[in-house]
Amino acid sequence: MLGQMQQAPLLLTDILRHALRNSANQEIVTRLVEGGIHRYTYREAGERIAQLAHALVEMGIGEGDRVAVIGWNTHRQLELYYALAGIGAVCHTINPRLGPENAGYVMNHAGNKAVFYDATFAPLAAGLAPHLPQVENYVELCPEGAQTQNGLDAKSYEALIAGKPSEYEWPGLDENTACAMCYTSGTTGKPKGVLYSHRALVLQTLVASLPSSLGCGPDDVCLPVVPMFHVNAWGVPYTALLLGMKLVLPGPGLDGKNLHEMIVEEDVTYALGVPTVWLGLLAYVAENNLDFGKLKYSLIGGSALPEKIIRGYDAYGVRCRQGWGMTEMSPLGTVNVEEPGFYDRPIDERIPEQVKQGKAVPFVDMRVVTPNGDRQPHDGESEGHLQVRGPWIIDTYYGFEENALTEDGWFDTGDVAVIHPDGQMQITDRAKDVIKSGGEWISSIDIENAALNHPDVVQAAALGMHHPKWDERPLLVVQLKPGSSTDLSAIQSFVNEKLPKISAVDDVQAVEEIPLGATGKVLKTKLREHFKDYKLP
Ligand code: ADP
Repeated sequence: MLGQMQQAPLLLTDILRHALRNSANQEIVTRLVEGGIHRYTYREAGERIAQLAHALVEMGIGEGDRVAVIGWNTHRQLELYYALAGIGAVCHTINPRLGPENAGYVMNHAGNKAVFYDATFAPLAAGLAPHLPQVENYVELCPEGAQTQNGLDAKSYEALIAGKPSEYEWPGLDENTACAMCYTSGTTGKPKGVLYSHRALVLQTLVASLPSSLGCGPDDVCLPVVPMFHVNAWGVPYTALLLGMKLVLPGPGLDGKNLHEMIVEEDVTYALGVPTVWLGLLAYVAENNLDFGKLKYSLIGGSALPEKIIRGYDAYGVRCRQGWGMTEMSPLGTVNVEEPGFYDRPIDERIPEQVKQGKAVPFVDMRVVTPNGDRQPHDGESEGHLQVRGPWIIDTYYGFEENALTEDGWFDTGDVAVIHPDGQMQITDRAKDVIKSGGEWISSIDIENAALNHPDVVQAAALGMHHPKWDERPLLVVQLKPGSSTDLSAIQSFVNEKLPKISAVDDVQAVEEIPLGATGKVLKTKLREHFKDYKLP
């Protein structure tokens, strides 16, 4: 028997409506690309989103059209998120760090009809334009008349929306209508497109807003350092408005000084980003004898949260929560939210818990399986390939015929993990980074975590190198603090003391700079290339 309730579609537009109805005076603050700080209320944001929707429709953008956005976290990009989704179009955020070749590839693959870009990326847009025959309009996210002279004859965003009506009759859409898309970063093979639906993002936003998920609330002031060009900034533009939080958008200012200024001056209490950003900020604050103002929590994901960050921030009273997810999961999979009383425990007891990736959020199912597909027990020891399913997890990549799932309907994340009896999931490694030594799997994450605890190690990466007897053994590559004279053998002893014997590194090598990929993660493919002729001692 079916229930007899109304079939109201789950649409992002209703998150916007709710925000405008209940929190119209709440603030959104942006560090502008053109310099200075912009602030306005949700009400004014709503008016400009309506104006933008009118402008988009006049430009010929309609249901199902994919529109590229290459920009920093700003109020203008936020407006694009809601206006494009609201008219049934697709906000295709482009990671500018993909480089011109991959950016051009994804824009063509997605068939983008228009391109909106920040001034910073005006040269990139101009360079790509000759290769994008399908693009009809270019718009620079800038004040009237301030367009960069890049030969594109781009409109200015502010001129585009000026004078348009500040209300819009949002169409009723099917909740499965596409609203946003994001390509994987293509570290292995060509980037693949993930096409999100209103329903998936609304459901994830509802779950993210639970105290037991992200654990932030309407009193928080939220700073997403995670870029809006990477998996919808982990959904913050939706969660913040649903909860009615003050939203602080850092624009292009992602260095320690600019982030610190935003945190202190805007009274930020909750910030989100990848570990490399938090390492940089911590170093800046320590070197300049500063503090973190009212910051209470930082949610850290994208790669493993190292002990160094937990301890470093703890000393300033800032609590680090770990989250795990991926582009194909919109991205939320787990969050490690503390149990009551957790912070009454001494830090040495907390660390082993905090380095875990967390428990699954509602509606996400996880399992670990052996390479043959047999399910592993959730005993905290049996490793396997981590597979997931749920209402905001990919079915099929954009433009592909076949779905991306196992025969029984699970998505393989490419991560190797254990699940503990209490439900905590812990990533050992990405399947392609795991070091295979004499039939055992060694976690490169554990080695990197140990290395980062050395005061002179700024960045670390463990690689599996060929070994005649064991198949592979770990090589630790480190980037040292500028001017450090620490002996590499001292680092090797320091690290190996902290590791089980099997994981002890066979050698340590230093590089000037460990390469980072488009989303701030260590680019192991590049490092492997660098060390391709290296032989373990
Ligand atoms: P890509 O880096 O391929 O663009 P994503 O940004 O979607 O893709 O990254 C997803 C991957 O990032 C996960 O599969 C996992 O390997 C890694 N990851 C994300 N969060 C964490 C975390 N908290 N700990 C360890 N690894 C993580």
